[in-house]
Amino acid sequence: MSTTHPLIYDNHGRPIQYLRLAVTDRCNLRCFYCMPEEGIPYLPKKQLLSYEEMLRISTVLAGLGVRKVRITGGEPFVRHDLTKFLYQLSDIEGIEEIAITTNGVLTQKYIPDLKKIGIKTINLSLDSLDRQRFYDITRRDEFTKVEACLYELLEAGFEVKVNAVVMEGRNIEDLIPLARLTEKYPVSVRFIEEMPFNGEGSHYPILHWTYRRILDHLKTEFPDIQKQIDPLNSTAYHYQIPGFEGNIGIIAAFSRTFCGTCNRIRMTAQGTLKTCLYDDGVMDVRDLLRKGISDEELTLKFIQAFRNRPKDGYEAEQLRSTSVHESMTTIGG
Ligand code: SAM
Ligand code: SF4
Ligand code: SF4
Repeated sequence: MSTTHPLIYDNHGRPIQYLRLAVTDRCNLRCFYCMPEEGIPYLPKKQLLSYEEMLRISTVLAGLGVRKVRITGGEPFVRHDLTKFLYQLSDIEGIEEIAITTNGVLTQKYIPDLKKIGIKTINLSLDSLDRQRFYDITRRDEFTKVEACLYELLEAGFEVKVNAVVMEGRNIEDLIPLARLTEKYPVSVRFIEEMPFNGEGSHYPILHWTYRRILDHLKTEFPDIQKQIDPLNSTAYHYQIPGFEGNIGIIAAFSRTFCGTCNRIRMTAQGTLKTCLYDDGVMDVRDLLRKGISDEELTLKFIQAFRNRPKDGYEAEQLRSTSVHESMTTIGG
């Protein structure tokens, strides 16, 4: 991923180079796997990090070797002046790559700005190619905007990854059509195991659609699907259907098979550092900033947190004080 050597390693020898930054906890969809139908109580605006605070955190982390920042949320584009912030973020020395995860509802009109900023990769969440099923999953009738956004992003030359969470009884009939998108388009379609980060807790006693079952299902239609080499630090198993333009990824988000090479940390919209998706927050960075911590002290605090990372998502989950149930919109995915 990075053209420069890592500067900092965690206590398990993994470099820390990738920040996932949630710029808001607000969202214009209500995806079944992420939030209850009535939504979640949003934090008062003052409790969210300001753009200035995010820029400062990113600068300190860039000084520690973070080279890639993924902007996520909530829905990043519901926060005002996002593109202005992205221009500033792209000016930080050391940040080599900015990527965005978006639901695509408001994204289209910002495409020219995203190009100018130098963003190359966009992850677009799209769990169904059927308008009614999309509505049933997201509880909003926005399919046509998201579909239009997908084709415009491809037209504009972005590297597009379509994220689809695989849900028993909700979008299994979409798996093959989504995989078929890779036939004519250079798109990466990634099937994600559903996790219990939905504001309520686990929807099922066991996970029905594990990465193995997703692959077996794809093989029923594409028996000659081929395994590809997985890039270092990637969290997806990569496949390609011979002769197709794009590729397919399967992300074992619940089974957690990629922790050994995990180079990522997360900053929630309220400024909590997470050194694993499954931990319940290891440092209140917002509080430290608002109490006047210096950059040098903050750097030391980050180093301390990186030297105490759980070895994997199972250990992180064990160390939590509560079960996994919070909405992904507060974490960023
Ligand atoms: N709103 C944006 C979007 O949906 O792309 C960005 C934030 S969203 C929380 C980031 C990613 O997390 C999305 O691709 C979404 O599908 C994924 N996600 C959310 N809840 C999830 C869950 N319970 N299990 C697996 N993936 C989930
Ligand atoms: Fe919103 Fe993204 Fe969560 Fe869906 S997955 S409710 S689009 S934050
Ligand atoms: Fe990294 Fe935690 Fe995800 Fe494993 S579960 S890949 S350690 S964030």
